[in-house]
Amino acid sequence: MEKILLITQDDNLTQKCSDVFVQNDYKFELAKDKQEIDFVVTQFAPDVVLVDMDFDGVDVQVLCNNLKLYSQSDDIQLLLITDGKKILPDALSRVDGYVVKPFSNEVLLSSVNAHLRTKKRLDMIFSKTSELARSLYQLNVMYDTSSQLAGTLDKQKLIDVMREGFERSISFAMCAILLVSDDDVTLVINSLHPVSERLEAAIKLRMMLNYKNLFHDRKCPFDFNIDDIQVSKASKHSDGNFDIKIVDFDTLFSPISTADNFFGMVEVFRDEKFSQEDATCFQTLVKQVSLPLESANLYEELQNTNKKLEKLEQLKSEFISIVSHELRTPLTAIKNSLKIILSGKSGELPAPMANFLNMASRNVTRLSGIINDLLDLSKIEAGKMDFRFEKFNAKTSFEDVYATFLASAQEKNINLNLDLSQNLDDAYGDLDRIEQVLSNLVSNAVKFTPEEGEIKISAKDATDEEIKKCNPALKGGYVKISVKDTGIGIAADDLPKVFDKFQQIESALVRKVGGTGLGLSIARQLVEAHRGCIWVDSEVGLGSEFSFLIPTATEENIFILEIDKLIQNAKQNHAGLALVEVLEEGGQAFIDEFVGNSNIVTKYDKARIFTQSSSNSATMHIVLPDANKMALDILLQKIKELIISQNFTYNIKLGGVIYPDDAINSDELLQRVAENLIELV
Ligand code: ADP
Repeated sequence: MEKILLITQDDNLTQKCSDVFVQNDYKFELAKDKQEIDFVVTQFAPDVVLVDMDFDGVDVQVLCNNLKLYSQSDDIQLLLITDGKKILPDALSRVDGYVVKPFSNEVLLSSVNAHLRTKKRLDMIFSKTSELARSLYQLNVMYDTSSQLAGTLDKQKLIDVMREGFERSISFAMCAILLVSDDDVTLVINSLHPVSERLEAAIKLRMMLNYKNLFHDRKCPFDFNIDDIQVSKASKHSDGNFDIKIVDFDTLFSPISTADNFFGMVEVFRDEKFSQEDATCFQTLVKQVSLPLESANLYEELQNTNKKLEKLEQLKSEFISIVSHELRTPLTAIKNSLKIILSGKSGELPAPMANFLNMASRNVTRLSGIINDLLDLSKIEAGKMDFRFEKFNAKTSFEDVYATFLASAQEKNINLNLDLSQNLDDAYGDLDRIEQVLSNLVSNAVKFTPEEGEIKISAKDATDEEIKKCNPALKGGYVKISVKDTGIGIAADDLPKVFDKFQQIESALVRKVGGTGLGLSIARQLVEAHRGCIWVDSEVGLGSEFSFLIPTATEENIFILEIDKLIQNAKQNHAGLALVEVLEEGGQAFIDEFVGNSNIVTKYDKARIFTQSSSNSATMHIVLPDANKMALDILLQKIKELIISQNFTYNIKLGGVIYPDDAINSDELLQRVAENLIELV
């Protein structure tokens, strides 16, 4: 029923209005003085207020202002009753219309009705606008939530973001989330006021029953009892108390799950009823979090599996290393004893005994070879092989390998040749390890080449095409070393397998000469640790050619190999590393001065400086082992000040990165630092 309030002190007007409105089934009230006005307006909440302008003791203009102020949210329709002479323009601007005295009942009624219709429309627009604003706000919260969820693989954070989303979009009194996993069940209760123990017990039971209900026709993903549920509670305010009455509040409930995974359930409680939009928003937020939860689960599983694998790998390496060491010591003793006996120093040996002891000696040598191979492999695989890189010339060093195998080749009447290019560039690497690779290849060639065959060891500079195929990141060039034989060859199908661990190509000769199938796999890993590569060309019956590339000792190559080593060390020691790059375009005055005089870097005892120059630019890299972001920033600041304090007429750029924050391998780290150089002068 529409409510009309009349503000007047005129009895005739009161009577007239009362008759009209009561007869026509309106609720009618009268206010005669200021106190009554305040009271009636708030208590009666009228739809239309009729204000008589002849009102003693009250400023009509102020009254209209106040009424409009009150009506701002309710849109009361304000009509002035005037005699047509007293017009207050200001007051009129505040009101919605006026009725001029004298007026008939019909005029009054139709005028009031017209304003009642306006009010209805305004009410409707207001409610639609606020619904729209609410939906827009909820949409914003959902958008915000989804951007917070993106990229997060932390389960706890995902649940927190979802709960915050509820808090902002549907403002709950209490939110209960039951998180179920195969090793624990947690009930997280967030409420406006502290939750009583009685309520906590009731929520536990309710969640438990809800869980059983969800799976009443299927097997529960995890079985648990009410006592298994651990509770974690938090309330926004410390005062007041939420008790059992809260279960009468309106609620929204949803399982948190995907098609394949169940994570838990959530229920929110609110005194005020939830709208359809609230329910949609709630469901959307739950769905939004379910997928990332699934990814988080998978990620957790993957991490656990990785950890287990790493542990297994470590155990395996440690086992091999311990066993090999334990075997090596007694073997060395046996080998030495046999050597003494066979030398005749301990007395004359009868010929048959010498034969048997020679056989024993050969097998002991073979056994220690196998043990060394196993040790090498375990060291390389654990990243613990300590390389001693240096500049060397292949010519002199490979002559030694040649000499070592000459006797065994001659035993089989094999023609062993050495073909080393005259102007061979110096190489950079661990010479012992490179000789180990070459020895393995020559030993295989001798093994697999029949009598009267030929083996050629050669070394020359690698061609551009070979470099491109191998490792284009190493721009400084390579030396190519090859061992070519006229042996049994390898079938095309078997070629890809020869560098794999424990791989031997099945043949009568292989069975006869024996071996572990580790030699080429170790060779490949040693060569790759030098950023080189190894390959084989072969044809059955005609022979094989094994080739490998090792870097030449240019500034660029030395720099990259050293960086690899420094990063490898950092990885081993779980330490950080800072890398700074200075690029001077058009000169190299700053770098020259820095390398020659700067005491900046000498302060860091383990710092390394590498410089490279071309015709029109120079680059300097500074590496600080065991450094973090703070140390990097300090160093960058010092270099910056030094550069800026001088007068350069060309460009100098500066940048810095941190391992492992910016990248976890040298190529990426170098790329990052080069991409983020900042021009200083
Ligand atoms: P092993 O110690 O058993 O020789 P390698 O890893 O050195 O192990 O070699 C793996 C296999 O590759 C050998 O068993 C053999 O079948 C094949 N192979 C290696 N070198 C040659 C070669 N020069 N000619 C023919 N086959 C070879």
